[in-house]
Amino acid sequence: MSNSTPKPKPPIQNPTPASLPPTPNPAPFSLPHTTEPAGSGKLLHNKETGNYFCANCKNPLFNSKEKFDSGSGWPSFFNPFKDAVEFKPDKLLGIQRTEVICNKCKIHLGHFFKDGPKNSRYCINSKDLNFEKKK
Ligand SMILES: [Zn+2]
Repeated sequence: MSNSTPKPKPPIQNPTPASLPPTPNPAPFSLPHTTEPAGSGKLLHNKETGNYFCANCKNPLFNSKEKFDSGSGWPSFFNPFKDAVEFKPDKLLGIQRTEVICNKCKIHLGHFFKDGPKNSRYCINSKDLNFEKKK
């Protein structure tokens, strides 16, 4: 108990903002909003019977019975499974469109248009779909 009085430690200083490494921007919640080139998708001409799933989270999105050839260059569907997708207004190209996103993981899937034979066309990127053939 004969220790000499400890010297007061210098207070720990917070680093000044200038000495902090730059913080990268937080990652966006959804993956980049990209559209594959028309006619390039591996599932565009797929006519097998089965289901189409979200390529990111495996959420079931469409049945092959709903797929049709819209001539747009992208896989097109009349209707998704119930609650499979969500809509988001999209003004990216300066025109009002409706973006289709996965209801589960919120990735961009494609766009919805009120045209085609049933006034309902989901134009979806092949790259955002996984197809599982019905056994
Ligand atoms: Zn998903």
